[in-house]
Amino acid sequence: MLTTVPAQGPATGPAPAPAPTRTLLLNASGEPLCVVTMHRAVVLVMTGKATVLESEGRVLHSAREQIPLPVVLVLTRYVHVPSRRPVPPTRRSVLQRDDHRCAYCGGGADTVDHVHPRSRGGRHEWTNVVAACARCNHRKADRTLAELGWELPSRPRAPRWSFTVGGAAARTEPAWSRYLVA
Ligand SMILES: [Zn+2]
Repeated sequence: MLTTVPAQGPATGPAPAPAPTRTLLLNASGEPLCVVTMHRAVVLVMTGKATVLESEGRVLHSAREQIPLPVVLVLTRYVHVPSRRPVPPTRRSVLQRDDHRCAYCGGGADTVDHVHPRSRGGRHEWTNVVAACARCNHRKADRTLAELGWELPSRPRAPRWSFTVGGAAARTEPAWSRYLVA
C-alpha cells in the first residue's frame, strides 16, 4: 500500500496541487520512451530499473522505502528501440509540443497556425507550425510575422518524441517539456 504525504512543511499551508498520475520515462540515453502510470513508475524505481530524474514535492511511502513522487524517470540500462516513424504535425501533436500555449500571446491555445501562411507557400511542417489561440490566429490571418511586427519566443522545432502522450485531451506535465523538445 502506497500513500503520499507532503515532503515538507506543516499541514496548515496551501492545499497541495493534485499529484501527477503519469510519469515520463526516458531511456538511459535521455531520449523520451513513453509515458507510464504512477504505479508502473514506482515499480520501476523499487525494482532498480529506473531512477527518479525529476520529482514532485511529495514522497511515496512504502513498507520499506521512501520514493520522491516521480515526474520524470530515466532507465538505469539502455534499451534498444527499433527506429520509429516520426510523429507528423497534427493539431493534437502541435498543441502537445507547445503545451497548449499560444505562440503569440502565451494564452491558452486550441488551434494551429502556419507561421508562414500556407496561402503564401508556407509548408505544413514542424518548423512552420505553432499552437495559437483562436484570437491570434484570426488576427494573424494570412499575414507574415514581419508584416505584423510579431515575434516568436523560440523557433518551432520537431519534437523529440515519436509517440503521442496520453489520450485525446491529454496535456504534458510542465516538468516534461525540456525532455520532449530537442
Ligand atoms: Zn494568442
